Amino acid sequence: MSTPLDRSTRWPYEAGETGAFSYSRFDHPTGAAAEQALGELDGGPALLFASGMAAATAAVLALSAPGKTIALGEGCYYGTTKLFELLAPWGVRFVEYDQSGPPPEDADLVWIEIPGNPMLTVPDIEAAAAGPAPVVCDATAATPVLCRPLDHGADVVLHSVTKYLGGHHDTLLGSLAFRDAELHGRVKAFRMQTGAIASADSAWLLLRSLKTLELRVLRQSASALELARRLARHPRVDVVRYPGLEPDPLAARYMHGGFGGLLSFDVADADAARRVETAMKLITNSTSLGGVDSTIESRYRWEGERVPPGLLRLSVGVEDVEALWADLDRALGNTT
Ligand code: PLP
Repeated sequence: MSTPLDRSTRWPYEAGETGAFSYSRFDHPTGAAAEQALGELDGGPALLFASGMAAATAAVLALSAPGKTIALGEGCYYGTTKLFELLAPWGVRFVEYDQSGPPPEDADLVWIEIPGNPMLTVPDIEAAAAGPAPVVCDATAATPVLCRPLDHGADVVLHSVTKYLGGHHDTLLGSLAFRDAELHGRVKAFRMQTGAIASADSAWLLLRSLKTLELRVLRQSASALELARRLARHPRVDVVRYPGLEPDPLAARYMHGGFGGLLSFDVADADAARRVETAMKLITNSTSLGGVDSTIESRYRWEGERVPPGLLRLSVGVEDVEALWADLDRALGNTT
């Protein structure tokens, strides 16, 4: 059975009383069905938002306050640092730390990412959760198929659902799932007043996509591992970052069934990266990740000095792995 798509913005009162749904900015049946499915995957009650950044905004405002310090894993999503920078006028500061170890002791909120985008480090979730500060774990690149951070002590798990959960580069969505029902209720109230809720259409697309999530993620993980190994042997490639490439005790502890479809590698410099990305034929030269179609881009164009100038981020889709390798190998021949 396909969940019905209900685009109503309001539902009638029942004998003058509000029923399960009243106004779609608060909650709607298609979103609630998608949240139920996401909550089962993540292991805690879930909320859907209009984008990953809308979810991040709700989480950071619920869990920080003026005078508080956020410890953010180094090499994590660039947009998260930009969001935290915007909070400076409200008296919230952030520091970056090596997420493979414990966070700074004075942190009031810890924000980690499994694995970090685009540096692909794996956080020590238990070390982050050992202190008193709440822990938000962005598991966009792992997905609940490979990692359930709430099981390892995180308080909130965040996904840019736009990526693997949506999986087709056709819907913008974000989610949070919570260990604590009280926090879930508080963030839901925040979502209601800020209007950051997902649309019914997006929620419906997510329900459709979840049916193939495991298939896609396992295939993408297997192909990414194969491509990471081949790239590591390629004469034009300096560094490959992928949690499954070298034995990594944190990856082994927290990721099961694969290491995800995301990897990054370095070529000589920014010019070489530009030549490689623009020579791609099968792999699309675009931003974003997690779709059935592979994408590649130089992150230097967005992140500047935060990343090596020759860094290329590759999101491996579900295409034939030999065809993907042929595209990469040919484009790498373009670096000189
Ligand atoms: N978290 C990670 C790891 C991401 O890669 C992204 C987007 O690239 C986001 C959060 C933000 O998600 P969205 O683009 O859906 O707002």
